[in-house]
Amino acid sequence: MRLFTFQRAASVDEAIASGAGAAFLAGGTNLVDLMKIEVLNPERVLDVSRLDLAKIELREGALQIGALASNTAVAEHGDVRRAAPGLSEALLSGASPQLRNAATVGGNLLQRTRCAYYRDLGTRCNKREAGSGCDALDGWTRMHAILGVSDKCIAAHPSDMCVALYALDATVRVRGPAGEREIPIGELHLLPGDHPEREFSLQPAELITGVRVPIDALAARSRYVKVRDRQSYAFALASCAAAVQVEGGAVQAARFALGGVGTKPWRVPEAERSMQGRPATRETFARAAEIALRGATPRRDNAFKVELAKRTAVRGLMLSAGALS
Ligand code: SF4
Repeated sequence: MRLFTFQRAASVDEAIASGAGAAFLAGGTNLVDLMKIEVLNPERVLDVSRLDLAKIELREGALQIGALASNTAVAEHGDVRRAAPGLSEALLSGASPQLRNAATVGGNLLQRTRCAYYRDLGTRCNKREAGSGCDALDGWTRMHAILGVSDKCIAAHPSDMCVALYALDATVRVRGPAGEREIPIGELHLLPGDHPEREFSLQPAELITGVRVPIDALAARSRYVKVRDRQSYAFALASCAAAVQVEGGAVQAARFALGGVGTKPWRVPEAERSMQGRPATRETFARAAEIALRGATPRRDNAFKVELAKRTAVRGLMLSAGALS
């Protein structure tokens, strides 16, 4: 680990005022790991972990979740379990209990990819060092993305929570030198394109202060399905957060997001619209999954993800629709 300056912010205003060029530290479960192996080398680390941003409440028709709420606190909160069960399931499917106790919502939103090459300083990685190349392209790609990829980066987005938040139409609240704003979660993470080193739409010194999850009939029906190589402490090969509202046997409204397969959490509006008004059956959901995976560009080791993601989506949609137990 390289030398760095450590500061602790006493308030959100202080964090923003001295945040330019610093790395914000909250739970430390991702940042500190990457600093230890010198993938991230901030000259200044600004500790925001003691700010008053950990509240979770149901207010104004939405779950208002502070950025410093731990993953465990959110997953186990009664209002979250009742009003957005898919979010609770997604959080409980991630990491280990010890990590969930320390990791925060804000940190989870900014979680870095688990691409093995990104973490290996002996390989080329455009995300770690802009313009250096990407050794994953012709390497081992079993865990890599098949949607949203570019010829510069194919790293899969790692978070389960973000996939659920996307299906729930959540927005991310941030504060920075220019004031406060809300970012739809689908716009927080950037596609790699020609610049995989740019990962988030945040401006310098902007601090995530919370997440707003609108609560409606769809959210209450939300579910999360994750397929992985082992039952715990593993990243998704494919996952699906689904929210389906059914009336009289027909789909009234439906949203679903895919994880483990995209360079960011993945939603396809056309796939969601394809279910509207149709019978809540496996055929309807399979058609939506087919549409969602149309743009997939698999590589040698991850072609299996196309079919796996479709089946995972169908299972998530069926569960949410009450067609599976
Ligand atoms: Fe780096 Fe992306 Fe290539 Fe992985 S896939 S080595 S993160 S550029």
